[in-house]
This record gives sequence, C-alpha cells and structure tokens, in this order.
Amino acid sequence: MKNMEVINEIDILLNKYCEDCFVRSHLRKEKGKTVAHDFCIHVCTVGEQIKETGKKLITK
Ligand code: SF4
Repeated sequence: MKNMEVINEIDILLNKYCEDCFVRSHLRKEKGKTVAHDFCIHVCTVGEQIKETGKKLITK
C-alpha cells in the first residue's frame, strides 16, 4: 500500500470517528489532554486501528 493510500485511510477514520468524538472532548474537559490522548491510543478501538494503519507507512 502506498503512503498516500495509508494517509487517506487514516484520514477517513479521523473524519468518521474522531472529528466529533464526544468521549475525547469529555475526557479533555474533565481530565486533561494527556488522559484523553492516552485513552485514544490505548483504549479506543478506533485509536488502535489508526495506530495499526499508521504502521503501514513506509519511511525512507
Ligand atoms: S481515537 Fe477513539 S476516543 Fe479518540 S477521538 Fe478517535 S474515536 Fe474518539
């Protein structure tokens, strides 16, 4: 998969699930940015999917 396709795939996920995510905005407001970020990276299945998709990026 080309990097452009990977980026598009991530973009679709971000637009579909993350853009208006209530959980993230709630956590940011109540517990701060770090906790919200941690939730996205370690708990949310969408975050997991984004992380896995990002691994397909080819770096030179
Ligand atoms: S990764 Fe999950 S919790 Fe974080 S913004 Fe996206 S959908 Fe919301």
